[in-house]
Amino acid sequence: DGAIRFENVRFGYDPAREILKGVSFEVPPGKSVAIVGPSGAGKSTISRLLFRFYDVKGGRITIDGQDISAVTQESVRAAIGIVPQDTVLFNDTIAYNIRYGRTDAGEEEVVRAAELAQIAGFIEQLPGGFGAMVGERGLKLSGGEKQRVAIARTILKAPPILVLDEATSALDTHTEQEIQSALDLVSKNRTTLTIAHRLSTIINCDEILVLKAGEIVERGSHRELLAMS
Ligand code: ADP
Ligand code: ADP
Repeated sequence: DGAIRFENVRFGYDPAREILKGVSFEVPPGKSVAIVGPSGAGKSTISRLLFRFYDVKGGRITIDGQDISAVTQESVRAAIGIVPQDTVLFNDTIAYNIRYGRTDAGEEEVVRAAELAQIAGFIEQLPGGFGAMVGERGLKLSGGEKQRVAIARTILKAPPILVLDEATSALDTHTEQEIQSALDLVSKNRTTLTIAHRLSTIINCDEILVLKAGEIVERGSHRELLAMS
């Protein structure tokens, strides 16, 4: 089911500077929580800790009651799907990039995921951006298109936990709504942590946490936070 708990989490990249100063929150199974706050507040650091890119300096993070520092990085990451700000693609077809993480998936499933993410038209092509390949046979993808590849990959993987890091930030407004509905589809009934800069993308979240300088300073529903401001 994938409940996430941060219990008094402390962290700094350097010992001299604490970035997270005792952060506590819970994402109950199947619920969605968003973290908002100014740039540099520590939002992305929270997702990096959840992925065990770094280990906490104090407190603990649990998934389904299990301290993530006690299990392998691989098994933590296997439970979590992410739609990052910047997606690094492999030098292989878009279909390969979508299938990565669930190599057992059949062709139909890959096509279905690509359709939901609205990239079905070019899944047999190669992404551009690989040195000499640019301008030759590589397809030059926009940031938004790369994000859709990441969304398709996540739709296919269907992980118990989803982390959306500014998921729709690189998209133009025309496609943003369509992508948002694809994301709503993939996050429905899935434990979801959204790292957001804009309130417009998190209207459907069950709880919103406001992070400032490494501390949660407000929490509540979208409506409650609007009433406070
Ligand atoms: P946000 O996502 O809220 O913009 P981050 O979590 O990315 O904030 O960063 C929080 C703070 O940690 C910032 O002051 C940032 O400069 C610092 N920081 C982020 N990554 C590193 C790193 N790898 N090494 C040192 N400091 C970092
Ligand atoms: P984002 O989380 O927005 O994708 P980054 O992880 O690259 O971006 O960095 C977030 C912030 O942390 C930025 O302000 C960046 O300048 C800062 N930062 C990243 N790496 C380091 C580092 N090694 N030392 C200090 N600050 C860093």
